[in-house]
Amino acid sequence: MDLPVDEWKSYILQKWSLLPKSIQVTISTAETLNDLFLHSSPLLQPEDEMFLKRLSGGYLVGKDPDASLFYREKGNKKFQEKDYMGATVLYSKGVSHSGSNSTDISLCYANRSAALFHLGQYETCLKDIVRAQTHGYPERLQPKLLLRKAECLVTLGRPQEASQTISDLESNFAAKPALSASQLQILQRTLCRVKVKVQEKENLPEIFPEALTKTFECVDLREENEQIPGASSSVGLHIDPLKGRYLVATKDILPGELLVKEDAFVSVLNPGEVPPRPHGLESKWDLQVTNGDLHCHRCLRHTLAPVPCDGCSYAKYCSRECMQQAWDRYHSVECSLGALLLTLGVFCHVALRSTLLARFEDVGEVIKKLCGEMNNQRICLPESKNQAQILKYDLGGEGGEKDKAVETPIPGCDINGKYERNYSAIFHLLPHAKNHSPEHKFLCAVSVSALCRQLEAAGLQAFTEDLKPTKLKASETPVLCAELNVWGVAMLRHMLQLQCNAQAITTIQQAGSKENLITDTRQVRLATALFPVVSLLNHSCSPNTSMSFIGTIATIRASQLIRRGQEIFHCYGPHESRMGIAERRQKLRSQYFFDCNCPACEREKQSPLSGPGREAFCCHRCRALLQGDDVLSCGGPACTESVSRHLLVSRLQDLQRQVGAAQKRLRNGRLELAIQLLLGCQSDAESFLSAEHRVVGEIEDALAQAYAALGDWEKSATHLQKSLQVVEVHHGPSSVEMGHELFKLAQVFFNGCAIPEALNTIQKAEKVLLVHYGPWNDEIRELQKMKSCLLDLPTIPVGPKK
Ligand SMILES: [Zn+2]
Ligand SMILES: [Zn+2]
Ligand SMILES: [Zn+2]
Ligand SMILES: [Zn+2]
Repeated sequence: MDLPVDEWKSYILQKWSLLPKSIQVTISTAETLNDLFLHSSPLLQPEDEMFLKRLSGGYLVGKDPDASLFYREKGNKKFQEKDYMGATVLYSKGVSHSGSNSTDISLCYANRSAALFHLGQYETCLKDIVRAQTHGYPERLQPKLLLRKAECLVTLGRPQEASQTISDLESNFAAKPALSASQLQILQRTLCRVKVKVQEKENLPEIFPEALTKTFECVDLREENEQIPGASSSVGLHIDPLKGRYLVATKDILPGELLVKEDAFVSVLNPGEVPPRPHGLESKWDLQVTNGDLHCHRCLRHTLAPVPCDGCSYAKYCSRECMQQAWDRYHSVECSLGALLLTLGVFCHVALRSTLLARFEDVGEVIKKLCGEMNNQRICLPESKNQAQILKYDLGGEGGEKDKAVETPIPGCDINGKYERNYSAIFHLLPHAKNHSPEHKFLCAVSVSALCRQLEAAGLQAFTEDLKPTKLKASETPVLCAELNVWGVAMLRHMLQLQCNAQAITTIQQAGSKENLITDTRQVRLATALFPVVSLLNHSCSPNTSMSFIGTIATIRASQLIRRGQEIFHCYGPHESRMGIAERRQKLRSQYFFDCNCPACEREKQSPLSGPGREAFCCHRCRALLQGDDVLSCGGPACTESVSRHLLVSRLQDLQRQVGAAQKRLRNGRLELAIQLLLGCQSDAESFLSAEHRVVGEIEDALAQAYAALGDWEKSATHLQKSLQVVEVHHGPSSVEMGHELFKLAQVFFNGCAIPEALNTIQKAEKVLLVHYGPWNDEIRELQKMKSCLLDLPTIPVGPKK
């Protein structure tokens, strides 16, 4: 997903292997990214571009009016099956494929409004009704739509508007025979309801409130750092020849304190696994739902009612405002390149978007930097008042930075030492050019060249004409237009940076069906982004912070007490609770080019068995742990059992498959069968896995869900408590994983009317989640609702939730 699709990758690697040795050497030993680009780019032949074009052709990114009808009919089918969520997404796909101001689009919007109405999304429903109307919804169908509007307004407690809508409807159609008797009857009934509702003054809130903006405002740094905008005043920026830039606590920091709150400089939504259509098969529109269907392509907000770009079927937004902003800042250039960008991967897309966003900063500044890159000249940075302070911009990055005089400001900082959270900061992230393999660099360089050629073909004009006129001085225009190569080199730099500096924006997604009364959550990757301030943090396999996201905004909180002078770490992915030391070190070396010396690694290096027995097998006779490499023998007293690792591993794989099958049944609502399968898995697991084995936890968790869905809260709680023990062993008692599991347990106790247990668990869950997410997290608010509900009913047992 991040890198180009496999076909293109292997095509270019093949091409590389066929290059004359001398050219390979020239490219491998290129001193600068500029040289790398200029030597690689001419090697991209027309037949290569043709091949790439064929690959891109597999992605359906344009609008296809036939698809609109197809999706609408599929949506109608789901609607009839009362799968309103499924219907909504299909109507959205229909909307994306319809042209603006067409009957198609208005019908899709109108149908989607009906599905949203059934989902209780009244505000969003109203928006879709307006959209249907502005795109020319057929007049003969209007009454239905207006009735729905009135119903929405009634439910939202806006009776005046509802009455107005109804009287509009009556007066508009009284003259025409458009309304049948039965429709008039419905009108009358609706009107009655309005009157009743006025008396009740009911005001039903949205089921999924669009609380993002509200949330954002409430999460604030207590005191912003003067040197690093977006960071708290409790941290300081340091630089060290070995570690590079890093953040240190300037005072004691308590768990839960917000340390960084930063909006991404650039982010690109991960399209999810969208397989290109197989060649030869025409118009097979997919019914798959991906992140791209449910999240705004600009702000990443979750939305059931996206509005599409007018020019493509691919980009979708939460609102016209987001669409316009995306268009102005980057999508006007990207729109026609959708298929190519999907083929070349998210890193290439982020690289392009970064350079497009750079246009909105001081262009002269950017050009100077880029030209410095181009020529690898010693250049004076404009922000440096001291003309003697000459920086060498080695494109390899590292070498150049080491050469710098001691008094040089920290890279990315201005003359006053203030870290700029802008393109300059992005530009200074290390590309690690020397560490990437020659093949990889060649792949990136050729992919960027292909992109540049497309940009050229699409008209360089488009690339530059959106520049804010005030920012672009006339004298600089020719420089910009003449040197697409400058942008090519910049994009190449970004592509290479991304391997180490890309930050995945994740979200907690609720899995499972609506019937599951307890929440089954999992973390999914939503977008790939660059964050200048977050990039300043070094990695630890046992970090002292916790990161979460609100849209494109990253927040980092202390997850434990951090003493003054200690470094602030976050985890780049290989966390000690998820991976063994060997796997972690391998990953960090291959992706991030360093050997980790964090406390967890040091500890595990000294005593490799000190980690939790995450993959521990145990003796089926005496339950003692099995030890050894290829052949494991029982460590229990007076037991001589031994067994081959191979056998155990294949048993484990078998078991995992069975658990997977059971979970699938569970998701499909076949609860009894799921439980039967899971109990089988459980007894199988007991015969060879330790009680703390991750798979044991999964089985217990699934059982808890199944019993919860059956309303057997007591059994559910028992299994969940076992799962909780496993989570605690693997992730620690105050981990975010523990928080999610405690949240589930609180729900189960709550639903089962176990009041003291529920209150106790709510308190624990709240405490853990607060540290990681701060007070405005959805789960925390849910916990607080449960708590006040329980406290309001001191004597009467509370009924089942929902
Ligand atoms: Zn948006
Ligand atoms: Zn578009
Ligand atoms: Zn480590
Ligand atoms: Zn034994």
